[in-house]
Amino acid sequence: MVTIRQAAIAAWISLLPFGVYCQNGGGSTGPETPGTIVELIGPLRTDGNRIIGADDEPAVLRGMSLFWSQWEGEFYNRDCLQWLRDDWKCTVIRAAMGIEYDGYLTNKAAELTKIRSVIDACIDLGIYVIIDWHSHHGEEQLTEARAFFALMAQLYGEYPNVIYEIFNEPLDLDWSSVLKPWSEAVIAEIRAHDPDNLIIVGTSTWSQDVDDASLDPLDDANTAYALHFYAGTHGQQLRSKAAAALNRGAALFVSEWGVSKADATGGVHYEETGVWLEFMDTAGLSWCNWSVADKDETTSIVKPGTSPLGNWQENDLTESGRYLRAILVEANTPLFEQLGE
Ligand code: MG
Repeated sequence: MVTIRQAAIAAWISLLPFGVYCQNGGGSTGPETPGTIVELIGPLRTDGNRIIGADDEPAVLRGMSLFWSQWEGEFYNRDCLQWLRDDWKCTVIRAAMGIEYDGYLTNKAAELTKIRSVIDACIDLGIYVIIDWHSHHGEEQLTEARAFFALMAQLYGEYPNVIYEIFNEPLDLDWSSVLKPWSEAVIAEIRAHDPDNLIIVGTSTWSQDVDDASLDPLDDANTAYALHFYAGTHGQQLRSKAAAALNRGAALFVSEWGVSKADATGGVHYEETGVWLEFMDTAGLSWCNWSVADKDETTSIVKPGTSPLGNWQENDLTESGRYLRAILVEANTPLFEQLGE
């Protein structure tokens, strides 16, 4: 059903084909029925402002972001991810490897083990996984980021499950003179080993300035720009920036968003979240919600002290957890119904 608001958004994003999120319809049965989400949707690539999969069908992924790995690393386990796939119907998981604040820069082996356990599990579970350099200061970490993504591309570039997110949220950096050349240097390391997997590139102001990037885009064909928002803080002004970028042909991926204010507090902002969900559906944008955690804040999906191994019951979930699970189950169940045994 198309609401008046959806129709208005579609008309406003004038270059977007309406209804692009009705993907992969008409699943057949028989020996070729895909067994996993990644087999169903296929390798991801960009086509203008869209992300598409097998048979050039629009691909819309919806799932959850894990929390900073150095602080909520207990959720970086296979049982948790299997629960998020089977009970929450996540088609994508974002592994947010913390870089500063006693993260990867100071505990390389430990953080690498955590993120690799998530990547390996998602490949095994047949869902997509975002390898996220979860940093606000990547411009000071170019050497480490290049080495890390070269290793990831060597290890995982052959798997269609894998998406690289090279810089979570840059702060106040100029796109053309600082962030774009930084991104090109990291992308070159990935492309030396992996010619084709999707790369998400962070944009300035906590990955909000997608309009700046769209005015001076990267050459790499399979690149999307990160658009991050928190519904209690960011509204129509940010959606207008996103629409401007889309209208210039930039592909966007909402690799992190929250139902709260930008500091993860302040309760669930239902009305503005609803407007954002309609915007993302209408534009066919993929997303990951923040976050899989038991920290005492609005955006955590489980209550403090909840087991990190999944098998969560209604009472284990927070208000935002119950809300997000319902959204994901409704949106993604039709995809899972197309899978064979
Ligand atoms: Mg590849």
